[in-house]
Amino acid sequence: MKDYEIVIGLEIHAELNTKTKIFCSCRNSFGEKENEQCCPVCTGMPGALPVLNQKVVEYAIRMGHATNCKINSLLKQDRKNYCYPDLPKAYQISQYDLPVCYDGEVEFAVNGEPRKVRINRIQIEEDAGKLLHQEGVANTLVDLNRCGVPLIEIVTEPDLRSSREAHEFLETIRTILMYIGISDCKMQEGSIRCDVNVSVRPKGSEVLGTRCEMKNINTFSGAQRAIDFEAARQLSILENGGVIVQETRRWDDDAGRSSLLRSKEDAQDYRFFYEPDIPLVALEEAWIDQIKADVPELPQEKIKRYVRDFCLSKTDAGNISRNYERALFFDACTLIDDKLAKNAANWILGDISKYLNERNEEIDAFPVRPSRLMSLLQLVNKEIISGSAAKKVLSIMLEDAADPMAIVEREGLLQNSNEEEMLRIVEDVLVVNSRAVEDYKQGRANVLGFLVGQCMKQSKGKGDPKLINRLLTERLK
Ligand code: ADP
Ligand code: MG
Ligand code: ZN
Repeated sequence: MKDYEIVIGLEIHAELNTKTKIFCSCRNSFGEKENEQCCPVCTGMPGALPVLNQKVVEYAIRMGHATNCKINSLLKQDRKNYCYPDLPKAYQISQYDLPVCYDGEVEFAVNGEPRKVRINRIQIEEDAGKLLHQEGVANTLVDLNRCGVPLIEIVTEPDLRSSREAHEFLETIRTILMYIGISDCKMQEGSIRCDVNVSVRPKGSEVLGTRCEMKNINTFSGAQRAIDFEAARQLSILENGGVIVQETRRWDDDAGRSSLLRSKEDAQDYRFFYEPDIPLVALEEAWIDQIKADVPELPQEKIKRYVRDFCLSKTDAGNISRNYERALFFDACTLIDDKLAKNAANWILGDISKYLNERNEEIDAFPVRPSRLMSLLQLVNKEIISGSAAKKVLSIMLEDAADPMAIVEREGLLQNSNEEEMLRIVEDVLVVNSRAVEDYKQGRANVLGFLVGQCMKQSKGKGDPKLINRLLTERLK
């Protein structure tokens, strides 16, 4: 196992969130009543003619720019022919030899280590319908609402080297799609899906091993499990003197294993040919360039800026930029007061995330908006209130639209810097916590933090932590 490395390439499908479908004016919306978002075009009635939705091309090019791809200025579409009940036309309009974007590169990080994956191509195509297997219904039903929903397929080069890395990369692609606003990326609605290609080879080898492709992967963590299973399967074949045969396998996430779908001999011949119902389109360079301007600052750029300008750790910068709404919230905070950027990051990743996680909500739903949060942080920064008082104020602010300072005054939370009062508290705490005092004298310096905490508690969060710290250190000498 040690002497082998895993090689992974991904084919990622993302549904685009355009208003209408790719070749007709049917609405592109999920969860509608079965077979009610269809027309002769998307259900492939004879004689119906497709008309390409320009937004789809625009969105694909936006993704191309965001992943550093080159853009083909000639737009060509091809027919991929196959028979399956979810595809009434018996062909999918896709792209074959001229994908709209090609030769790109995506930067991301695994455990803070920078990694790069090359993008082979990004193409536009139409989705197929959905087969429904309903309990109590003997036959398979088909819902054609998804026919003609626009997709981009992102194909990577085989540049990934572990299941963990593949998982992280998929998250990165999702984040980019969210940032550029072209897909809802709802896993549970199937709006982002992927096939994984896995091979193994001796470490240091330059040639690729024979790959197997796995389908029916519904979640990113499922992709990670499928890769681990497949790599182990291939290694055990090799260790037993066997050879890997190229095949397509079906992943079963509940069972945690894959099974053979078809071998290479059974590989389908899609008889690709130029789609005669859609003319070749020459894209204007100016339009392609203009789309570039719609690409916002991307996660990797944000991470670099946060680390450089605000001294955030890479981990914190990554955790903020990973979620688009959270990054916008943080950016708004830093525009109000960039000197408190690090404090804002700590609050966002700490108390605020905890609050949102408990309610399974996004930061958009957080009742305290950046301007009020920053007013609160400024009170801490000016030492008008302590950090622990600020926590209390924030919890009140969730239900009370009053100004933070008004809440502080009303609740009597102004920081207490009265030395005499604080000294009394310090002395009480030292008496009650004699064990901790002993520990401190034995050299356990971190006990000091505990004692400060006890004093803060005694002062009902109002004590000045710096003053308490100084008084404690003096007493303990
Ligand atoms: P196909 O059209 O048959 O699916 P592609 O050339 O488009 O073949 O490759 C599909 C995917 O398989 C790509 O993501 C590519 O990176 C990946 N891939 C190709 N060869 C290997 C290999 N030996 N090991 C792992 N992945 C591979
Ligand atoms: Mg493929
Ligand atoms: Zn239609």
